[in-house]
Amino acid sequence: AVEIRKVNKFYGPFQALKNIDLTIPPGKVTCLIGPSGSGKSTLLRCINFLEPYDSGEIRIDGQMIGYDAPGKLMSGRKLREMRRSIGMVFQQFNLWPHMTAQQNVAEGLVRVRGLRKDEADERAAEALRKVGMADKMANHPARLSGGQQQRVAIARAIAMEPQLMLFDEPTSALDPELVGEVLSVMKTLAQEGMTMAVVTHEMGFAAHVADQVAFLESGELVAVDTPSTLLHHPQDPRIQGFLRTYH
Ligand code: ATP
Ligand code: MG
Repeated sequence: AVEIRKVNKFYGPFQALKNIDLTIPPGKVTCLIGPSGSGKSTLLRCINFLEPYDSGEIRIDGQMIGYDAPGKLMSGRKLREMRRSIGMVFQQFNLWPHMTAQQNVAEGLVRVRGLRKDEADERAAEALRKVGMADKMANHPARLSGGQQQRVAIARAIAMEPQLMLFDEPTSALDPELVGEVLSVMKTLAQEGMTMAVVTHEMGFAAHVADQVAFLESGELVAVDTPSTLLHHPQDPRIQGFLRTYH
């Protein structure tokens, strides 16, 4: 589980996260929703300490990330070790343009995991098969659609065998007709029991795949609940107002 406790985050004088308390349970999907600028990306990035939080604690399977003790930064080596168990997929796919899909996935396995090249290629192929990209492994990114590129990015993350996957609007940069194939890969991962935190504007995905939905506004966690309660019977007027913009 990821346990977020009383987390505060400032950018200079601006408070981007206010006393956030949230548990991301193992084997479940947690969707983070809320208006632009509400702190969704910031919260997600704090979980793997891409953004340092200023106070409170984030624990992953009991171990605090980023700090050895409150205020005392952990070593870069220890942080990298903890990050090994966390995969992240962004809106932008960040693939290497000069490498094939398979090379893009295998690269980290060789560099970070120290696998032999043939082992890395084999595991990359397996991950690409899983996301339905078996027949495009030899293509460079320029010869792939946006949806295919994002599936390669997901394969790259899952090939590292993470305990936890973080997704930050993975379909926002895609043409509408390509969104479905990426969401369907994510749904399959969820069904296989992957622990996932997903920032998304895809309310259909949140409604059908999430186990819990968290709503943020102005750096505050307004509510966390089941999708049916939070999306279909929201109590808070801020959530009601936000959801109206989707209908
Ligand atoms: P969106 O839906 O547009 O992606 P978000 O909910 O992900 O929005 P964040 O990116 O987490 O929002 O930003 C939260 C707030 O923090 C915003 O007001 C933003 O302007 C501010 N912010 C984010 N990154 C920085 C930064 N590096 N420096 C200063 N302010 C920042
Ligand atoms: Mg964001």
